[in-house]
Amino acid sequence: MSLSLGEARDRAAGVSDVRYELELDVRSPDGFRSRAVVEFASGGGDTFLELHRAGSLAVTVDGQKITPGYDGRRVALAGLTAGRHTVVVDARLSYVTDGEGLHTFTDPVDGERYAGAYLGLDIAQRLFACFDQPDLKAPVTLTVHADPSWTVLANGRAASAEGSTFRFATTPPIPSSLVTVVAGPYHSMRWDYQGLPMGWYARRSLAGPLDRDAAELRRVTEVCFDHYARIFDEPFPFDAYDQVFVPDLNWGAMENPGCVTYAEFLLPRGRVTDDDRRRRAMVIAHEMSHMWFGNLVTPVWWEDAWLNESFADYMGFEVAETVAGFPGVRVAFEAAFKPEAQVADLRGSTHPVAPSSADVPDVDTGTTIFDRISYGKGNAVLRQLVTWLGEPDFLAGVNAHLTRHRFANATLADLLSALDAASPRDVRGWAEVWLRQAGHDTIRVERRGDVPVLVRDGIRPHRCTVTAFRPDGVAAGSRLVDLAGEPVELPEWAGLAVLPNAHGETFARIAPDPHSLGVLSRHLTTIPDPLVRAVLWAALLDLDLLAAHLPAEPSPTLITAALDRILNNVVRRTLSPADVPAALDLIAGACATYDGPDDQRALALARGLVWSTRDTALLRRWLEADAIDRGVTLDPDLRWAAVHRLAELGAFDAAEIEAERLRDGTVEGELGAASALAARPSASAKAAAWAAMTSDPDISVTRFRALAAGLWSLSHRELAAPYLPAYLAAAPSLARRGSAFAAAVGRAFPTFPLTDGELDLVRDALRGDVPTVLRRFWLDELDDRTA
Ligand SMILES: [Zn+2]
Repeated sequence: MSLSLGEARDRAAGVSDVRYELELDVRSPDGFRSRAVVEFASGGGDTFLELHRAGSLAVTVDGQKITPGYDGRRVALAGLTAGRHTVVVDARLSYVTDGEGLHTFTDPVDGERYAGAYLGLDIAQRLFACFDQPDLKAPVTLTVHADPSWTVLANGRAASAEGSTFRFATTPPIPSSLVTVVAGPYHSMRWDYQGLPMGWYARRSLAGPLDRDAAELRRVTEVCFDHYARIFDEPFPFDAYDQVFVPDLNWGAMENPGCVTYAEFLLPRGRVTDDDRRRRAMVIAHEMSHMWFGNLVTPVWWEDAWLNESFADYMGFEVAETVAGFPGVRVAFEAAFKPEAQVADLRGSTHPVAPSSADVPDVDTGTTIFDRISYGKGNAVLRQLVTWLGEPDFLAGVNAHLTRHRFANATLADLLSALDAASPRDVRGWAEVWLRQAGHDTIRVERRGDVPVLVRDGIRPHRCTVTAFRPDGVAAGSRLVDLAGEPVELPEWAGLAVLPNAHGETFARIAPDPHSLGVLSRHLTTIPDPLVRAVLWAALLDLDLLAAHLPAEPSPTLITAALDRILNNVVRRTLSPADVPAALDLIAGACATYDGPDDQRALALARGLVWSTRDTALLRRWLEADAIDRGVTLDPDLRWAAVHRLAELGAFDAAEIEAERLRDGTVEGELGAASALAARPSASAKAAAWAAMTSDPDISVTRFRALAAGLWSLSHRELAAPYLPAYLAAAPSLARRGSAFAAAVGRAFPTFPLTDGELDLVRDALRGDVPTVLRRFWLDELDDRTA
């Protein structure tokens, strides 16, 4: 059982003023030593520290050795007197390979070992004995014993390094979930900026890509830093800012105070496209904003996870788009992230952007809150709030909130009172409909005569841009409209097509009238503003629209978003199994136009072609040339995608896959090969994949995911479908390893359409004892397939 809200409230009532002094010894590859000196004030009575599966355990309380109650999760501290106490917990713990705890990774390129503490909800207890809840923030003073040749990074500024002992400065109060240590022979770029030591780091075997992108990474870091220094009253809250690309991170990035960790896909080995650069800048801006949202001011409990993630997601896109030099990132948000949030908001599992604490009764439920509602919808809703309030009032309220609760915890009510005081508008009324209620409105276009009229079906006020179009698709004008209960007539645009929310300021389903729909879908790809096209692609996408317009769409961002959404939402989930082959042929036909003057557009289409085509000669030609036909080099990722598709089509055997693995030599090559072997259309290949997924209790999340991607072949469901019952039977126990692995098991659900009988098997399985995180994935899969 994960920590419950009631337990957290009780403990916070009795424990305060916590400090940690930690000592970690990571010199042995077979396990690590964790010694925590925990100082705190107690109101008297019983409490507990969390510590996950300690191998050996020695505990003293105020200098007296005790033998505490310990169940593998909690160290009981019984009968404390009121006053200050010092508890020392010295333990031997295990490394992990699932990215939850002190993760260990050995690089196949050079045999070098890396260790990194990847924490999060309920995971700090896998690193050290602690009060593992967000409202018991504490200063941390850390010492690490590691190979003297290694780079060792942590939340605080490096204080000294003597031999194998690395010491760090004491941090300000931080939540346990955001403690980190990163250690290994990292390649680096370090510099000082505005008095702060900064750095970018990557594995030694990724030195080339890090050096290639170093100037851009440094520039984006500095621009974001300057921007936040300008808009926030509170100065940067920590004493260093290191950013590290780490292996096997389960999240895109993690906002540890002073030491942000990034997943390595953000440092591509192959070509870095403009979309890659925009996304990375967005993530850098997102994580840095967390230094204020989440780190300086932290939620009391996980129902306010959105206070971290919605703000950071909004800031990430906004700052990348308007400040950091990456216009176009908002196009990706409108075309990909926002429509996925709308899908999530229609499921049974949707929830208010800001749920109540009672809706998050334990940490496992908290884990499921880190979803498309808290990120994508919350981001969109905050953009609507800024449009509605005006940025000056919004920032005034936010700054008052950050200053009032600096280095402490706060709730939605605290934020609302600060915003309310800063604005003449009814912020509490706005929050009631936008933040406290799930679901979204529809904005329809009707006609009175030929005058367009905007009508809202729903309960929320909307302020958004409406754009009118002539019959030839040329824009005739735009204006900002406030829409609430009363319909809004647009007599100046009589007879014209209109598109509400043309710039995406609000979060609503858009339903144009038949006239507008006709004009807009006819001229979709000739509308010059890609943001308007993004809104249209998102609103109108289906297989027919894709076939008609993809070949003429100029934006690689929009091509990628449309293909991803068609594959995941339509082909994999809502088609009947018999219709899949024809759909793949139709997509391949639309993508076969990849030959053109724009390399990045060609790459985006080639990525769609590679999973849909049946043309094995074409894919073999690509591999031989190491390029798509017109000379655009194959990225390692695209090369593996071609190998995977050839294997799936039965046109690439195990020996050829092995030769590709050796040619690549990296961990990505290992995973690509595992996935391609699993994708081969034979019963023995599927059996081997399933055995590999389930026989090794220490299998990494990345390997499990690669094997699942091969097992559930869209083109050979008859070979893979027999594994559905086995998957449903094995998944609950596999998922008990931890929340990240539970999510990996949930994502390993079959990625092809299921028959009614197969859907019934899933419903039956859900009647059993299914862990919270896994259950959420299965319920969402059922919703997506039966909507
Ligand atoms: Zn975040």
